[in-house]
Amino acid sequence: MGVKKPLGKGNKSKAQDKETQIIRQCALCETEYDQKGIKTIEKKEGVSLMHCTCKTCHGAVLVLLASTPVGMTSVGMITDLTVKDIKQLKGKDPITEDDVLAFHQFVQQKQPSFLKYISDS
Ligand SMILES: [Zn+2]
Repeated sequence: MGVKKPLGKGNKSKAQDKETQIIRQCALCETEYDQKGIKTIEKKEGVSLMHCTCKTCHGAVLVLLASTPVGMTSVGMITDLTVKDIKQLKGKDPITEDDVLAFHQFVQQKQPSFLKYISDS
């Protein structure tokens, strides 16, 4: 059962596009993100943690994307951490459901306007 999709180069970049198109522009200066400024830190079964750097104001945003039964949800927060910092902080622990929930709650409490901003679609 199931159709096994070939994991060619084309498919991989297509999947990346689908995720990064959710993150369209900088929350700080509204410049459209350069795809090169979006880095996937971790990806695991429907959950992606991404770091986006704005080419104009150099502001960095941490975005968590999760596939839920009702669709794709995204939460983000402005960060001063670099991709390297986050990888060091995270260590080897994979993203868990608790992390997703905690992150979501944090954003809702701290930056509700930003949450609203990026989930506009
Ligand atoms: Zn910006």
